[in-house]
Amino acid sequence: MFKVEVDPEKCVGDEECVEVCPVDVFELQDGKAIPVQADECLGCESCIEVCEVEAITVTEI
Ligand code: SF4
Repeated sequence: MFKVEVDPEKCVGDEECVEVCPVDVFELQDGKAIPVQADECLGCESCIEVCEVEAITVTEI
């Protein structure tokens, strides 16, 4: 299991994580990425790699 967090102060809503995540963890709500299906996270860290503002953290729990 992984904990996925997006810092709303940093998120610019460019949807890169929404597009890259293979299991659709993220959804854009009011211009911010929200990890609505964090339970599905595979820990691949693709979202971290594409996030230009380093707003995402993925932690194994
Ligand atoms: S680590 Fe991979 S599976 Fe998990 S939220 Fe990021 S892109 Fe999706």
